[in-house]
Amino acid sequence: MTDDCIFCKIGRREIEGDIVDHDDIVFVLRDINPQAPVHLLVVPYEHLGSLTEIDEGNAGLMGRMVLMANRAARLEGVAKSGYRLTINCGKEGAQSVGHLHMHVLGGRQLSGQLG
Ligand code: AMP
Repeated sequence: MTDDCIFCKIGRREIEGDIVDHDDIVFVLRDINPQAPVHLLVVPYEHLGSLTEIDEGNAGLMGRMVLMANRAARLEGVAKSGYRLTINCGKEGAQSVGHLHMHVLGGRQLSGQLG
């Protein structure tokens, strides 16, 4: 948890965010600047700066994030049509918010381009 992290603040309900689902480990936030009809962020409550902070001790978190992403895809109606899970990591990985999160994108035909 950090005082100046926007996703920590949203997770603590200190500032508003469109949280569509949550469990005790992660919450699912509708992206404020959607890149597709369905654009959600799966965010752990715990503050981890990026994917590089995943190690043997907390690797189970990734499975939980995927489970919640799959649940979000079902709830948003894109589980059958298809969707993409993306984690941007670091500067050249185009990460803009320094709190680990997974994008769930769907609801339109996504391009095959990855970079
Ligand atoms: P990334 O570039 O992978 O770090 O993704 C950060 C994402 O967070 C971007 O898609 C932003 O649109 C989104 N975002 C930033 N601030 C907020 C917010 N307050 N509520 C919801 N989404 C946000």
